[in-house]
Amino acid sequence: MTTTRYLVRGGLVIDTEPDLTAMHATDVLIEGGRIAAVGTGLSAEGAIVIDASNRIVLPGFVDTHRHLWETAARGATADLELGPYLGVLMGQYGARLRPQDVHAATLVGAMEALDSGVTTLIDYEHALHTPEHADAALDALRQSAIRAVFGYGFSVTGDGAGHDDASRVRTERLSDDTGLITMALAPLGPSFTPIEQAAADWRLAEELGLPLTVHVAAGPVAAKPITALRELGLLRANTLYVHGNSLDDEELKLIAESGGTASAAPAAEAQTRLGPPVAGRFRRAGVTTGIGVDSVSSLPGDMFSLMRATLLASQIADEEPLTVRDVLKMATIDGAAALGLADRIGSLRPGKQADLVVLRLDDLNMLTAERDPFAAVVTAANPGNVETVLVAGQLIKVDGRLRGDAAPAARALRESALSGN
Ligand SMILES: [Zn+2]
Repeated sequence: MTTTRYLVRGGLVIDTEPDLTAMHATDVLIEGGRIAAVGTGLSAEGAIVIDASNRIVLPGFVDTHRHLWETAARGATADLELGPYLGVLMGQYGARLRPQDVHAATLVGAMEALDSGVTTLIDYEHALHTPEHADAALDALRQSAIRAVFGYGFSVTGDGAGHDDASRVRTERLSDDTGLITMALAPLGPSFTPIEQAAADWRLAEELGLPLTVHVAAGPVAAKPITALRELGLLRANTLYVHGNSLDDEELKLIAESGGTASAAPAAEAQTRLGPPVAGRFRRAGVTTGIGVDSVSSLPGDMFSLMRATLLASQIADEEPLTVRDVLKMATIDGAAALGLADRIGSLRPGKQADLVVLRLDDLNMLTAERDPFAAVVTAANPGNVETVLVAGQLIKVDGRLRGDAAPAARALRESALSGN
């Protein structure tokens, strides 16, 4: 934990709770890795000053669904619907994945996320063939310094390291639920495996005291997967449901009543034809909903693209379209809540972890953005505007450049068995 004190001075500060607010010429004081104060004219005594004049300062973005290992397969699935997508991704790429490939892809993927202002993500790792794969993924997450939930998945090819290794990782590597990296279980779930298997996976999550995250759809195994879980007494809070575009309103209501949360991935859902946008439906059902990049084998890895996809998908197809304010909250505080991390990230409330992003307002695409900074962040900004990134009070990106040397990670990814195929 860093003890450095920073004063991010004079920015246009966006905070996210209880409602979105924009405060001009405002300072953010960071001490011991946490937000110490937000206000005007704060003392810079003993602090390193980060000039934020003519800049937007906001909480780091939170990605609630991503498979980082797919960074090794950039562009490989761009024109593919779900079936062919899975065939190429899991059959052609996932099956050949070695631990060093997982490490290279996870590290580059996490660095790419940080570079674009994503300070927290859940890595839904569904290609863990052996314990060495799990360790490689985890080592890469730690090396990147991103805040992450490590979603321990069971490989769709069925060979995965399984329950014993998930228990090992929980006991030996991720027993601290307050750390920079925490753990979730990411089973295949009742939409894709027999309910008996889902029940065994849910019991493991209970035993290990872990949250769950799971892809859900009406089928192919269960047409009503949430009802199937309820019938076995398995509906619980601390469960993050992903996609769910084909679920009916009854199923969404059950999720809301259980205290479960949701991750919509509108760009991935459009690309793989999962059905109409679901983010607005989840929100109207009373489910806390974040957004996720999902697949960088088909899609860009930054939240600006994803926020615009979320907004546009809703505007095209939703009976009550989302607003830019809705989307900005989903990309920050609601995403934090969906991951069960709203007590520590997602806003600039004093005491929270200092996960911050600073965007330049004097770049050509952001001029006059002061008028409505929320709309500018969602509709106009891009990763090139991200000047500074802090995670837990540690400077990750300064003056528009990542501090760590990205070259070795880039080289390892190029040399990976998966590159170029
Ligand atoms: Zn996914």
